[in-house]
Order: sequence, then C-alpha cells, then structure tokens
Amino acid sequence: MKSDLVIVYHRQPYEEVITGGKTHYRENSSPNGIVPTLKGFFGTAQRGAWVAWKECEDTSDPGFDPVIEISDSFGTYTVSRLPLTREQVKSFYHVTSKEAFWPILHGFKERYNYDPVDWPTFRSVNWAFAEAAAEQATDDAVIWVHDYNLWLVPGYLRQLKPDATICFFHHTPFPGPDMFNVLPWRAEIIDSLLACDSVGFHIPRYAQNFAAVVRSLKAARLTDEAETPPRMLATGGALNDRLIPLELDVAGARTRIHTNPVGVNFDHIQTLAAKPDVQDRVAEIRAELGDCKLVLSVSRTDYTKGNIEQLEAFERLLQRRRDLHGKVRLMLVSVGANRNMTAYAEIQEQTESLTGRINGTYGSFDWQPVSLISRAIPLAQLVAYYAAADVASITPLADGLNLVASEFCAARDGQLPGALVLSEFAGCAVLLDGAVPVNPFSAGSMDSGLEQALAMTADEATARMKALRASAKAWDIAAWTQREIAHFQSLRLARRKAASPQQATDAA
Ligand code: UDP
Repeated sequence: MKSDLVIVYHRQPYEEVITGGKTHYRENSSPNGIVPTLKGFFGTAQRGAWVAWKECEDTSDPGFDPVIEISDSFGTYTVSRLPLTREQVKSFYHVTSKEAFWPILHGFKERYNYDPVDWPTFRSVNWAFAEAAAEQATDDAVIWVHDYNLWLVPGYLRQLKPDATICFFHHTPFPGPDMFNVLPWRAEIIDSLLACDSVGFHIPRYAQNFAAVVRSLKAARLTDEAETPPRMLATGGALNDRLIPLELDVAGARTRIHTNPVGVNFDHIQTLAAKPDVQDRVAEIRAELGDCKLVLSVSRTDYTKGNIEQLEAFERLLQRRRDLHGKVRLMLVSVGANRNMTAYAEIQEQTESLTGRINGTYGSFDWQPVSLISRAIPLAQLVAYYAAADVASITPLADGLNLVASEFCAARDGQLPGALVLSEFAGCAVLLDGAVPVNPFSAGSMDSGLEQALAMTADEATARMKALRASAKAWDIAAWTQREIAHFQSLRLARRKAASPQQATDAA
C-alpha cells in the first residue's frame, strides 16, 4: 500500500533490539528528539512511510527485509531500510557529509576536506534513497526529506514523482555564498533543492543565506518576503535578520522558502523535572555542591560546539578570581562522537588535556574545578543537572539551533533562579528572550558573560528565567509541528490549485 506521507531521514524510526537471536523493533523510549516528533506526523496522514539506511555486507543479499511494516503507538507505517555497505556509509555520511559539508555549513572553511570525497557514491546513495521513497509514495504524496546528507534526493525524486509535494528541512545552519560556494558541487545541490516545493530552515538568517546562494548561481527573483516578527529577534545579535524570504522564482519555477525553528518537548521535560526521583537527585547534587556554584555545559564533542573556548573561559575565570576557588565548578558534558573521525578525536584530546590542566593547576583534594563527562547522560538524569545548575553556559561557535539551551529553561520550573549564557551563534539565540548573550570568538565577551551570570541577583535571574521559559515554551515542538502541518496543507492546496483551479477552490 502506497503512502501519502513519506519521511526520508537517515536514521531508523525505532531501536533494534536482538533477543534470543531475533530482532525486535522497540519504540524509542523517550518522546524527546526528532525521531518521535517526525513519527507524530503519521497521525496526520492516511498512511505513512519512513525511509532510512541499514548497514549490510552485501547490498544484493542484505540478510534483512528491505521493507517492513511497523505498528507502534504512532500507528501502522512502512519502513524502507535501504541496504548500504559499511564503505558506502563511510563515504556518503562520514566523509562527504561530515568532512566536506559539515565544516562548510558551520563556517569552518579551513576544516573542509575535499580530497577523500567520492561524489559518484554520494550521488548513487542519494539516488537509492530517492528510489526507495518514490516506491512508497502515492503520486501526490508529501515527501519530506531531512538534512544535508540527502541534498540530492529532491532532484532525483522530482524525476520519479513529478506531482508529489517535495519538502526539505535543514537541521543545521545554512551559510551564505562566500562559504557555500566552496563546495564544487554547489550547482548540483542547489538545482536539487530548487526541485522542492519548499526548502525549510530554522531561522530567517539561514533562509536569507539560502536565497543569496541561489542568487549567486541563478538569476533568481525573490517574489515574496515578510518582516521578521519581534519574537524572532530576541537575544540574538549576530544571527538576527529583519526580513524573511518566502519564495524564489527561477525562470518561472517557484520554490517556497520556509522558516520554522524546531523546538523541544517542553512539557515532557517540565514533567520529568517535577518527578520525585528527579527532585531527589537535584537535592543530592545540591547537597554535594555545598556552597559551590555549578556551571553546566552540555554538547557533543565537535569543533562547532566551542568546548575548548568554554574551558579556556573557565580557566581565565579561575586565574582572575582567586575568591572563586572552591566556590564554583564547571560540569562539561561533551558526548564523544565517532572516534574514527580525526577532527573529533583531536577535539576530544584537547578537551581532556585542558580539563587536566585546569584541575591540575587549581584543584585540591576537596575541590575539582572541572568535571568532564564524555558519555551520553540519559535525559532524566540530564534534567536533574539542568534543574540543579546555577548557570548553563551554551557557547557554540556555530549551531543550527541548540536544543540544550531550551531544555535547560524547560527544566527550571520552581527551581532556584538560573542564568543562561548563550552564544550569539546558536540559532536559538534569536528566539530565547532573557539569556546573557556572548560572542565565543571574543575572550572579553565570554569572560564578562560568565561573570555577569555568576553575579546575577536572584531577582534578575528570576525575571530572565520567566522570559526564557516563556519563549522556549512558545517555540516548543508542539508549535513547530502545528506550523509544519499548516505549511504542508498550504503547499498541497497550491499544487491542486495549479493542477485544477476550480477543484482547489472547492476543497479549500
Ligand atoms: N543529550 C542527551 N544526553 C547528553 C547530552 C545531550 O540526551 O549527555 C541530548 C540533549 O538532551 C539534546 C540533544 O542531545 O536533546 C542535543 O541537541 P542539540 O540541538 O543541543 O545539539 P546537536 O547534538 O543536535 O547538535
């Protein structure tokens, strides 16, 4: 049975568990995160399908059914598992996407690595995703493709499904032409994206950058734009943009540009934070801290996240402020990425060595200034740290949005007032009102931001946290979902109108 909503996302929509030699598909335990959010959209369709990859040794005989049917609390839907070899995954995902695209998306030209890219493999993997999606889709389905590792899918899909509503959503930043055009495949990527009905981004700046990239390559006219609402110009300075582009026309072909920041599951995190066992844990953490203040930073081990700059700022704080010795601790959760990737292994080593230096220089038997945790902490435990911290310091050099900052706010109901130090270069800086903005490229800004947060009066922190929580709630995942659903409806209507103007008016 064909589906009227096909989601193309590289990860499978469940956890695979093997018991007694048999594979079971277990629903993701947490409702937090993008996978359960996207699965929630199946409830809006008659029939849903999901396309992901699954590793195998031999693609012609993968040893698993490429297409299965799953029934869970989201309903019954089809999952296509595209068989890919380890070499294909390495090439299309770990090399082309992570070594070539990722640094460019985040503005790190010097880290861009062109040499190992095997473009024919990237094309063929994207083609296989497009074919698998087309196989599942009705002719007029909504096909929703996610993230840069699938950039070529829309162009291929348009050949296979000319009447489908094809949407693409970027979960990362999108750079302007000076940066994007470093990619020698830029024209092919942009042609593919322009085959979409709609190309989506978190914030106006990324949408503006996309429009600028398109206009650097094509004589494209911006046919619709809107003023950015004040609630998208919150704390942010560097990433603010006053206008949101809405539609591009390239030689008569129109593509909508869609700006809709993904949010966090605010209610779920708030509920977790209120649970008695989480509250007990908060009390334990606070008791262990004594009169020490806790600065919390949570991210992945990635050069974009600015963990080194964060540690250096903390080291400078201890150099300057002897009065804070024994009175402040930094907990840096930096979840280790794939150690086989050189860029990440280097950052991990630097993070470990800097942590060692700070603890060795300033620590004592009773006081360890920095606690570095390199493994993922389950959300319920993380929420206890969010609730117990005095300051959350989220200072990426570049970040599509950053969910951790909003999760911190969601966890602070009824807790001690807490301050959020937030990089101007995190997408959520334009949404979260009440943060202390910092520029992670400036030592002075990082230093004064951290000092301001640590010295903040309870009254000021309470007022700021109220504003932060209100904006994190207003931009939460439920609001994102509602806006996406409305967007799909308007795109479908526009397609119907183009095909048959009278019928579309009746349907509306
Ligand atoms: N996270 C987690 N445990 C950890 C660290 C992070 O569960 O130890 C989760 C965190 O709650 C958040 C996500 O990982 O939902 C990170 O999202 P974010 O947008 O901040 O960063 P990304 O890793 O997507 O760049």
